[in-house]
Amino acid sequence: MGRIGIIGGSGLYKIEGIKGVKETSVNTPFGKPSDKFIIGKLNGRELVFLPRHGRGHRISPSEINYRANIYGMKKLGVERIVSVTACGSLKEHLKPLDFVVVDQFVDRTNHARNMTFFDKGIAAHIVFAHPVCPELSGCVYESGRELGLAMHKGGTYVNMEGPAFSTLAESNLYRSWGMDIIGMTNMPEAKLAREAEICYSTLAAVTDYDCWHPQHESVTLDMVIANLLKNIENAKRIVNAVLKNIPAERNCPCKDALTHAILTDKKLIPAKVKKDLGIIIAKYVK
Ligand SMILES: [Zn+2]
Repeated sequence: MGRIGIIGGSGLYKIEGIKGVKETSVNTPFGKPSDKFIIGKLNGRELVFLPRHGRGHRISPSEINYRANIYGMKKLGVERIVSVTACGSLKEHLKPLDFVVVDQFVDRTNHARNMTFFDKGIAAHIVFAHPVCPELSGCVYESGRELGLAMHKGGTYVNMEGPAFSTLAESNLYRSWGMDIIGMTNMPEAKLAREAEICYSTLAAVTDYDCWHPQHESVTLDMVIANLLKNIENAKRIVNAVLKNIPAERNCPCKDALTHAILTDKKLIPAKVKKDLGIIIAKYVK
């Protein structure tokens, strides 16, 4: 039974109630993860927690070392990741304090971020039509419902570069595209998790309407922060329930994502790549 990883977004820097807590630094071929990983037990399941922006929110979305974070999770035996994230809403019915269990992403970053493990002599193309794990996302959604929270099943997350929020023209553009929510971090995580054959689910908590909304001008920072804190409390309750509800073994395609993905002639894959990516590709390139 693999470990469950939790990546915490803005405001979520620790999870209470974890037993036998151990902090560990992980070295990766891609540099340093955002912070030390916290390992412990919650509801009888082994959990690995990482604050995406580092404790104290030191790392901006463009500077996060996504590869090191996901590689670190893989190295620590994580099979499934629930990613908790704050987001803005692009739709009237997705209200502040609601949760969206995302099922699609659109990438609007400027591509300065490293979003793949496969370069420097190895090429692999994962199937990414359905970028989140259906089983894990189903469990996240049902766990929130069980708690009586306002949950939305599915939704498209547009990943902007940031760190500034959108202009009004951008916000209206995303709405015209049919996007549901907007954030700055989850697209690279989802891609890398799939490449690493880790299940991934985004639990997005709506803090406010993006700037398109007529109410936006009257929203104060205090209100946004109050929503953020409330969302964090509810997200922790959902995480708790997920750990109780998730089946021990995975029953989804994520664990075999690389089966037909690596195109490079195995004899030509550089030794360093084989070594660095061993924990991800060893079963395919022996
Ligand atoms: Zn899965």
